[in-house]
Amino acid sequence: MQLILRPYVLKLRHTFTISRESRDEQPSLIVELKEDGISGFGEATSNPYYNITIKGMMNDLQQLEPLIADSSGMAPEEFWEKMKSQLTHDMFALCALDLAYNDLYARKEGKKLYELWDYDISHNPLTDYTIGIDTIEKMVSKMKEMPWPIYKIKLGSDRDIEIITELRKHTDAIFRVDANCGWTADETIANAIALKELGVEFIEQPLPADDWEGHKKVFEHSVLPIIADESCQVEADVDKCFEHFHGVNVKLTKCGGLTPARRMLVKARHLGMKTMVGCMTESTVGISAIAHLLPLLDYVDMDGALLLANDIATGVRIEDGEIFYSDLHGTGVTLT
Ligand SMILES: [Mg+2]
Repeated sequence: MQLILRPYVLKLRHTFTISRESRDEQPSLIVELKEDGISGFGEATSNPYYNITIKGMMNDLQQLEPLIADSSGMAPEEFWEKMKSQLTHDMFALCALDLAYNDLYARKEGKKLYELWDYDISHNPLTDYTIGIDTIEKMVSKMKEMPWPIYKIKLGSDRDIEIITELRKHTDAIFRVDANCGWTADETIANAIALKELGVEFIEQPLPADDWEGHKKVFEHSVLPIIADESCQVEADVDKCFEHFHGVNVKLTKCGGLTPARRMLVKARHLGMKTMVGCMTESTVGISAIAHLLPLLDYVDMDGALLLANDIATGVRIEDGEIFYSDLHGTGVTLT
């Protein structure tokens, strides 16, 4: 099995702002695993918050080349365990590798991933479309440019309720809000009352990741469900979030790929929590992998590739929030 690393710089259609940063482009690493003329593809983007660079991931993966070459035919779970023991410090690289291996494995079996996992795709949720923080005028115009049934609005400014009040004047769509750790517990409890009135469905990660006392207080008093993102990174975090959040937003790059993400989602559902998968600003390679988890999800945020000016692959297609799978096996991706 051959490892091929393909670094890209993805260009964004609009400058994207959340509570801690602004950006116009997004470096991304595509990992290809090739065997017997069949290729599987995975992706992980760079991430300053988690100290992840493309160069760092490439170095980590290049060192595993002999181990990867020697791992043909393993079950994906076994492959993941073997690679994780070498990549404990780099979940993003592990994610890209795991996606590529799952894709390759399913293609060799002649199945789409959701078929391999025996998932029922008839009740898949719609994906939201994200509006970054900007002036209210620009947020309204971005929303109008992309008529959509569900928007996820990034908050964490000093005029959050005003933003949602204004946006609500222009659409009846469902709103979700993501404060990216920007609020206090008391602000969250108060904001939830106002936001519920404005047709908001849930609040994602209002408090800093490690404020567990605050999470508990908000969990007990918020009138809206609270979904963990920065507080739920790896498998062990699902248990920690129980009775501190109403649900979890799992990111493939943070937990190390599809293999652990599936276990986290099953566990969260078992605990009676809502399940969500979120994306990074990433290409259709990563987005197509997420699509195969839809049957396990209550909510999904997989608009990453829609925010790009130069997508680098075809795979799943998204129309008005609905996800359509490619006819190809595996994740269904082809690099363009
Ligand atoms: Mg988030």
